[in-house]
Amino acid sequence: MKKGVFFVVSGPSGVGKGTVLKKVMAANPNLHYSVSATTRAPREGEIDGVNYFFMSEDEFDRKVENGEFLEHVKTYGISYGTLKKNVEDKVDSGQCVILEIDVKGALNLMDRGIRAVYIFIAPEKFSVIRERLLNRGTEDPEMLEKRVEVAKWELEQADKYEYVIINKDLDKACCEFDSIVRASSCLASCTDFSEFDWSGRKRSAE
Ligand code: 5GP
Repeated sequence: MKKGVFFVVSGPSGVGKGTVLKKVMAANPNLHYSVSATTRAPREGEIDGVNYFFMSEDEFDRKVENGEFLEHVKTYGISYGTLKKNVEDKVDSGQCVILEIDVKGALNLMDRGIRAVYIFIAPEKFSVIRERLLNRGTEDPEMLEKRVEVAKWELEQADKYEYVIINKDLDKACCEFDSIVRASSCLASCTDFSEFDWSGRKRSAE
């Protein structure tokens, strides 16, 4: 059976990952967004089961103990995790899954040899990160500084990914992402070779 492609996408907070992903997903209905679990409180407008599965620390820890996560991390004192069932079943049944996770989580998957197309979204210059986070207005000053510090380290890890997209021009960034999605649909590792008649035998009717 043809397998789906698993895309792992990271980039510093405030780089505009969400906007790029929204546009790319609207243009590619075969892409499924893997909704993560988190212990952070919902931001205004965020919906449980759509943006995240919001849960208590206890519920999150229980899922960790039950081995329900493909990976999980604690950043800024908040736990985030990818549920195995959101990824493995879908990819095995031929669907493409996009996982948006932090760099620590992506490096963890790479180190464990998890097969995926790893994409890093970066700003053209560092100052953009602070400006976007300030404009977003969702962080208190202490959290904002923490996110800026983490962003510096994250940018240093960009060369570990297969692809790097600079989000200077949104349309160009989306077009580049789209090209990666199209190329990935031809990956040999996702091809079901049993679909083709390559035996070279003549058909009896011919
Ligand atoms: P935010 O709180 O702004 O929604 O997300 C903070 C960071 O957590 C982002 O870099 C985001 O990509 C990351 N994140 C979201 N879900 C997951 C997850 O399931 N696993 C990991 N490792 N990081 C995640």
